[in-house]
Amino acid sequence: MRNTKVNMIDLMGQYKKIKKEVDTNIISTIESGRFVNGPIVSVFCENLKKFLRVKYVIPCANGTDALQIAYMALGLKPGDEIICPSWTYIATAEAALVLGIKTIFCDVDLDTFNMTAEKVEPLISDKTKAIVPVHLYGQSVNMDDIISLARKYNLKVIEDNAQAIGCEYEFKSGVKRMTGTIGDIGTTSFYPSKNLGCFGDGGAIFTNDDKLAKRIKMISNHGEEVKYKHDIIGCNSRLDSIQAEILNIKLKYLKEYNKNRNLMAKNYNSAFTELSDIKVPKKIKNSTHVYHQYTIKVNKDCRDELKNYLLKNGIPTMIYYPIPIHKQSPYRSDTNLPNTDKLSKTVLSLPIHTEIENSNQEYIIQKILNFFK
Ligand SMILES: *Cc1c(COP(=O)(O)O)cnc(C)c1O
Repeated sequence: MRNTKVNMIDLMGQYKKIKKEVDTNIISTIESGRFVNGPIVSVFCENLKKFLRVKYVIPCANGTDALQIAYMALGLKPGDEIICPSWTYIATAEAALVLGIKTIFCDVDLDTFNMTAEKVEPLISDKTKAIVPVHLYGQSVNMDDIISLARKYNLKVIEDNAQAIGCEYEFKSGVKRMTGTIGDIGTTSFYPSKNLGCFGDGGAIFTNDDKLAKRIKMISNHGEEVKYKHDIIGCNSRLDSIQAEILNIKLKYLKEYNKNRNLMAKNYNSAFTELSDIKVPKKIKNSTHVYHQYTIKVNKDCRDELKNYLLKNGIPTMIYYPIPIHKQSPYRSDTNLPNTDKLSKTVLSLPIHTEIENSNQEYIIQKILNFFK
């Protein structure tokens, strides 16, 4: 039976298990007085590099900055175009728009929620400079196709990996790479609710390219390489030492966290197999899934009704995203994106936890089954 409140995510349960280690390390950071760029920031980046098997991890202040810095590092200018999904968090497009870069929105696949090369190719123009795949909800975009498309048209690839840290993509050749390390640049966010989250804001940028890494480092630190010598225009985007302490501890458990998310997803999948009114998220063969979100599609026209019913029963759910970017006023475009529009009316993300014992999953499942009875 239900023992605690049902939460969308369980950050407190997660904290309780690592409290001692986290508290000790936070206090020692405070006592060290090294709040910005303390040694722990590089320790964490080294560990994340090993985890991701990537040459460079450059920390920054949040996932939105990470995208903006990536766009700047590639030298994208006003008037240049990038192609990104409209079915993503606003930051993917916003970070480009503030630089005067034009975002061309592509539709996504209804089953995977992700962009496909097929939807991107017709949108490529003379002005297109980059493709921005977003590994939405924790599963990789088909990167075999995106990389070949980028090669064919000589475009850069920036992966928005804010929702998929720990996800691994297997190319048709058998080569396996962590998402975020496949394109020219990958970006991520350590916002508290992400799969690897800190206790505030944080982000990082990944690349295997020496020259890009150097530019990214400079841009995130006021365009300087040597102190007080500013060779290019940059910004101020850093990861705090305290956040790095927390991330360095949580990184040790990331595999386990993602494993638990998979267990919960598996339980949901098997509970809902008989339900024709909802469609469980599709898992593709070439990618692992880290279930940042477990997102169902409600077939009948009753998504909002189900959401309200669950809420009345103490179960929070979320709609990622109620209004796609191309329908938001500053970004409005007349492009026709039927799948994106359809998803905004049918998706529902259910609670997904790293601490399964606190998840009340049986209760959630029962209520959903009751609703459709
Ligand atoms: C969370 C998120 C971001 C932005 O990260 P912040 O750290 O909140 O700035 C960017 N893209 C996607 C897909 C996200 O989910």
